Amino acid sequence: MKKVNLNIHMEFCTLDELSEEEKTLVLRAAEATQNSYAKYSHFYVGAALLLANGQIVIGANQENAAFPSGLCAERTAIFAAQANYPDLPVRMLAIAASDDRGLRQEPVSPCGACRQVILEIEDRYQQPVEILLYGESGVYRIQSIKDLLPLSFVDANMH
Ligand SMILES: [Zn+2]
Repeated sequence: MKKVNLNIHMEFCTLDELSEEEKTLVLRAAEATQNSYAKYSHFYVGAALLLANGQIVIGANQENAAFPSGLCAERTAIFAAQANYPDLPVRMLAIAASDDRGLRQEPVSPCGACRQVILEIEDRYQQPVEILLYGESGVYRIQSIKDLLPLSFVDANMH
């Protein structure tokens, strides 16, 4: 038996350590939490993604009385972008969450299902999606979803 250790890479930054583009995107994600429909959890998540042409598409979590019918902020943004601009790769995705007291202290990270969807975007356009997780305490900057989803499953695994 051989022990295998996986290395993942990320940075923890202050807002001022981000590029203007990154800073704009995390602030748009925080703003997007206001569009959340989270009457059950009171956990408001916003996402903002940057397309290859510089356009920003936002998303926010949408809950439903029939729980599985709702959707995460990340996927509302990604699917809206894919439906409206299928030819434009996604360059970056920022995520922020707030509760009834305001922006969360610690950044939140995408759920497993959203990680899989972000992976498909990287596979579709053959380029990494930079992920920015924003909280009051700072921003996790991750260069590819592969760092959040090691040993991942993509189309190529079926051939
Ligand atoms: Zn999710």
